[in-house]
Amino acid sequence: MSDFTDIVPGISLAAALNNAPLDMLENRILIGHALQLTRIQLITQSERLLTGEEAAQLTALFRRRLQGEPIAYIVGEREFFGLAMQVTPDVLIPRPDTELLVELALERLPQQGKALDMGTGSGAIAVAIAHTRPDVSMTALDVSEGALKVAAGNAQRHGAKVAFLRSDWYAALGDVAQPYLDLIVSNPPYIVAGDEHLSQGDLRFEPIGALTDHADGLSALRIIANGAPKYLKAGGWLLMEHGYDQSEAVRDVLAQRGFAKVQSWRDLAGIERVSGGKLAVASN
Ligand code: GLN
Repeated sequence: MSDFTDIVPGISLAAALNNAPLDMLENRILIGHALQLTRIQLITQSERLLTGEEAAQLTALFRRRLQGEPIAYIVGEREFFGLAMQVTPDVLIPRPDTELLVELALERLPQQGKALDMGTGSGAIAVAIAHTRPDVSMTALDVSEGALKVAAGNAQRHGAKVAFLRSDWYAALGDVAQPYLDLIVSNPPYIVAGDEHLSQGDLRFEPIGALTDHADGLSALRIIANGAPKYLKAGGWLLMEHGYDQSEAVRDVLAQRGFAKVQSWRDLAGIERVSGGKLAVASN
């Protein structure tokens, strides 16, 4: 940070790229974002000279990044499941590992099935499912108004039909005559209160309520699992993302609540990251 000198006007794009303080990928992302240029244009226009305004803008963006602000918040989007999702500090930045949750959900959703995404945040999971499977009736809820706005924007941007609901977990769903969902999916806050990761890297800038339950890390996972049988049809699946060391605990919660076929799946790093089960018999 201290040895970053301002990007000066009059230098070429190529020179700006080489003098920029981040790694090459991030330099390209920020410069492309600031100048509204694609990756290809950054190459074909490499001789183009920076105006004073552009140089100042780039300097400001690099300073933000050097202070730790996540690149996804600076540029306002992150790709998930092949779709550009808008992100703001109201929502967690979608992780590639969470695509596993989407794949598992897609494999299990029957034609015309009904699915619910709990704690949807940016809407990434719900939008990815609804975009891939327009036959599915997708509902997504979140307790945060700010998150719901971002999620609704993402659904609209990708022409995905998702019904949004402001709800503290199941609270707004209320009583139902009988279970009607084929699948519940969630990437809830699961980091243990006080975990050192909360004060490192991108997580410092993400909404704390999307990261931790402020308790043992399992409380949201328990609420979701315990409430699920009221809404899930017999044969319906519950799939939840969790922390690297929580798979056994989550499988226990699912088994205790009467789920069958309880199992975990590994993420891209080989860590058990999603656990789920199938409801054998519907019960309230
Ligand atoms: N997977 C996120 C992390 O990196 C946490 C997301 C969550 O709590 N749901 O740390």
